[in-house]
Order: sequence, then structure tokens, then C-alpha cells
Amino acid sequence: PSITRGVTVEIPKVTWEDIGGLKDLKKKLQQAVEWPIKHSAAFSRLGISPVRGILLHGPPGCSKTTLAKAAAHASQASFFSLSGAELYSMYVGEGEALLRNTFQRARLAAPSIIFFDEADVVAAKRGGSSSSNITVGERLLSTLLTEMDGLLEAKGILVLAATNRPQAIDAALMRPGRFDLVLYVPPPDLEARYEILRVHTRNMKIDTVVNLRRIAEDTELFTGAELEGLCREAGIVALRENISASVLSKTFQWLTSVRQDEHSGANPIYA
Ligand code: ATP
Repeated sequence: PSITRGVTVEIPKVTWEDIGGLKDLKKKLQQAVEWPIKHSAAFSRLGISPVRGILLHGPPGCSKTTLAKAAAHASQASFFSLSGAELYSMYVGEGEALLRNTFQRARLAAPSIIFFDEADVVAAKRGGSSSSNITVGERLLSTLLTEMDGLLEAKGILVLAATNRPQAIDAALMRPGRFDLVLYVPPPDLEARYEILRVHTRNMKIDTVVNLRRIAEDTELFTGAELEGLCREAGIVALRENISASVLSKTFQWLTSVRQDEHSGANPIYA
């Protein structure tokens, strides 16, 4: 991927199969992202106006970023990734310039997806304060609104944004033609946890008696990121102990119980 400060561009390699669970959500994203890009002529012919912006919200570590990347991969779209927090931290005017520049580059590289992580930072509700000082956040938001409105005529460009705090997003972004689609990305249920464990162990050598269904049952409050971490750690333990050529069931059990303890008392994800 090419990296300029604050923005990464690539066609991601992640596929829909790399994401466990979330079947309906994947289908919605296929329709909203993949179809307009792959069948743009049909969309024009039928007079269907494609979705311009999609907001993904939900607890951290539950695949918002990965879904956006998989959508870009499936559409073979250039993926411009920006971090809200990083934009916010830039010098006066620099963040807005980067935003404008990214939209410009995305137009030239179309089909493109512009992805904002921590979108609530760049798209925060305006304070409505009487102060005449325009804040950094307000300037970024107004640039983002202008750029998104400018996309109405453009083809093959879509904005995806992710946030853990959807309530903090300014209502102006929710108008038609901006974020038309708001999708909740939930923490994984039992079946999804099983699938996530399968995804992250598929290239590992694991003992034949390892029961992933059982592990899925024992990891109720785990996020996708935590399940991925569990698999990685189990692999490292096997490597370190060098006791066998594969990852053992007892290693998974031990790690699950350690992580379980860390969870108890922790805030059960996302209010
Ligand atoms: P954040 O809000 O913290 O940015 P996020 O919701 O964008 O998190 P990701 O960055 O997409 O989450 O996921 C974190 C890691 O967890 C990724 O490496 C991904 O592989 C793994 N992961 C999360 N959910 C799943 C899933 N459903 N299937 C497979 N892997 C998953």
C-alpha cells in the first residue's frame, strides 16, 4: 500500500470469506458497494442512484474495518483509509487539505472507497455554542459535507465510515445523499464466534481433538479481535513449548479461561 501521512491507499486483500458470521450484513454491503461498482451501466440505465455513504457502527474489534476492506476487495476498488483522530491532530488547515486531496485522488482512481476510521472525531456534532471560534472538528466536518455533496455527480466513489459512538455523529451527515445507509455491526454470537475461530485457525496446525464449537461456547463476550488474538497466542504457546507439531486442545482451554477472567467485571461491550 502507498502511504502519505494520514492516508493509506491499496486494493485490500481481505475477502468476505475472511470474516466469520455477519451473513446478512455482508449481503447488504455487497448490494450497496459491490453492485453499483460492478454493474454501474445497469444502475444508470435503470436510473437507480447508488448509495453514497455508509456508516458502520458497533463495538471495537468486531470487524468494521475488515468489512470495509472486504467490500473494496470484492469491488476491486482503491481503498483510501483515513483516521479521524489523525486528521483531527493535524495542523490548522492540514486536515481539511488532506480531506480535499483524498477525495480528489479517489475521483481519479475510481472505483474508490474512502474509509474513515473513528469517524465521530471528524464528523462530531457541532457544539451550537455562541462562540465565534470555529473549531477544528467543525472545519473538518464542513469540508467533509462539501466533499460528500460533490460526489453526487461522481461515479464509482463511496464513503464508508466506522464509529463506536454513532450518537456523536452530526445529524447533517445523515441526510439523504450523505450516509444513506447506517449498519450496526454486532459483537459475534455463538455461530459467528465458531466461524471466526475457524477463519483464524485455518492455516494453523491444530490437534484433531481441538473442539472449536466448545471454544466458541466458552468465549461469550469475546470480540472478533479477541478471538483472533486467542488463536494467535495458542499458536505461539505451541511454538514456545515445542511439545508437539500442533496446537493442543488444553492450550486453547487454558488461554480461554485466562481471557475469561480478564473479561469478568469488564464492561460488557458497547452500550
Ligand atoms: P475498531 O473499532 O477498534 O477499529 P473494528 O470493528 O474496525 O475495530 P477490525 O479492525 O475490523 O475491527 O477487526 C480487528 C481484528 O479482529 C481484525 O484483525 C480481524 O481480523 C479480527 N476480526 C474481527 N471480527 C472478525 C470476524 N467477524 N471474522 C474474522 N476476523 C474478525
